[in-house]
Amino acid sequence: MPPTYENYVDGAWTGSSTGETFAVRNPADTDEVVARFQASGRADLDAAVEAAVDAQAEWANTPGPERGAVLKRAGEVLERRRDEATETLVREEGKTRSEAGGEVGRAIDIFHYYAEKARELGGIEKAASGPNTDLSTKREPLGTVGLITPWNYPIAIPAWKLAPALATGNTVVHKPASAAPNVSRIIYECLAEAGLPDGVANMVTGSGSEIGAPLADHEAVDAVSFTGSTAVGTAVAQSAADDLKRVQCEMGGKNPTVVMPSADVDEATEIVGVGAFGTTGQSCTACSRAIVHEDVYDEFLESIVAYAEDLTVADGFEDPDMGPHVSESELESTLEYVAVGKEDGATLETGGSELTGEGYDDGHFVEPTVFSGVTSDMRIAQEEIFGPVLSVMKVSSFEEAVAVANDVDYGLSASVVTQDLSEAHEFVDAVEAGVVKVNEKTTGVELHVPFGGYKDSSTNTYREQGDAGIDFFTATKTVYLN
Ligand code: NAD
Repeated sequence: MPPTYENYVDGAWTGSSTGETFAVRNPADTDEVVARFQASGRADLDAAVEAAVDAQAEWANTPGPERGAVLKRAGEVLERRRDEATETLVREEGKTRSEAGGEVGRAIDIFHYYAEKARELGGIEKAASGPNTDLSTKREPLGTVGLITPWNYPIAIPAWKLAPALATGNTVVHKPASAAPNVSRIIYECLAEAGLPDGVANMVTGSGSEIGAPLADHEAVDAVSFTGSTAVGTAVAQSAADDLKRVQCEMGGKNPTVVMPSADVDEATEIVGVGAFGTTGQSCTACSRAIVHEDVYDEFLESIVAYAEDLTVADGFEDPDMGPHVSESELESTLEYVAVGKEDGATLETGGSELTGEGYDDGHFVEPTVFSGVTSDMRIAQEEIFGPVLSVMKVSSFEEAVAVANDVDYGLSASVVTQDLSEAHEFVDAVEAGVVKVNEKTTGVELHVPFGGYKDSSTNTYREQGDAGIDFFTATKTVYLN
């Protein structure tokens, strides 16, 4: 029998008021129910918010170093449970062992990083003023914050919201994504073991409409940090803005890698290939458009098709190059985009089908897919596919490459492969993206620098990670002391 897990509310594991649960299945073997979670209702959300509001003043008054010590211990407990968390992530979300291990390692690092940050808080920045006046600023927590997270990085993203929120003295109500709430559950067990006071961090599982939307709209919640699709994030931002809550939404992407004639084609292939097919293309920063100069187009196309055809696809426990899609609906969406690409006149160079047969029958496996001859007016060049589908597009100049790169509504991550330093600088300046890379894949982010998108990839208010995480979760008070 798979385990049934409860909500974490006011320091206790609690069943939901609805008495209903939902199943989380292994995407590599859908007969396996990994665990059941609470299909919570409004009363459960209200109880969690009430607990968080009640706990807030005392947590805010706990000295920063003490809050940091709790985060440090939570990181240590997670370190001890690293293998279990990694296996849980492979089993519930379908990441490969290597990808899952990397993500759990990142979550551990995030707790240690913000543990240190918590020690630096509360200092006063003096500002110049007149005689007898002490002018300074102090940071204060926002209060109780709502966190809404996606399934595709189900331990790293909750960690990069929770850790700075808690470090700065906020209390939290968190709704994880229903496809992958199981590693979030492990985080709350770690925080409990680390001695986090009751009510400071609460997790409520359930649907987006029953829990997510009312959390964003909740009158007792002071701020909302959301990561997910642009469609849902837009609704979250609008509802939070209605009562002037501070809100941060990090959303989808349609990320380009530009390949210029000076590029080494093998290097460009690796950069595009890892960006496009890593995590089964299910990263917000996944490379979904290779914009290639005509001088190297044919060579690059041949190389990237061979790369895609060489990839191993299997259950993440076998540590292949690519695991399954997280769910049937994500698999179907990818297959639909393959059909759309063909209808729109792109050339399917390789892949495009669900994988069936031995080892594949019970999972959501799809072939790594490459289209060539893609143009900006096609839907596959504009819409986020969130699967292992790469569009290769031909351009005849650097200026055209930049124009094509920018010719989408999204603006999350972008990269260029070139040996020309001026071209690299020009690309950094001209491309509309929150993260720009030169001779690197579009995926992968460092935890100590800001992360977020331009255009429809973000609400463009605050960034996440690094000091930006502290900025979002704090308000600045200016103090004149005469
Ligand atoms: P999603 O938008 O479907 O769901 C995200 C979260 O919102 C889930 O917890 C979901 O239950 C909840 N939700 C659903 N409807 C809601 C509503 N009406 N109100 C409030 N909450 C609601 O996204 P997903 O499928 O879980 O994740 C994939 C998406 O996330 C992709 O678009 C991807 O690009 C994006 N993403 C962005 C980043 C980033 O930092 N920019 C990182 C990871 C993923």
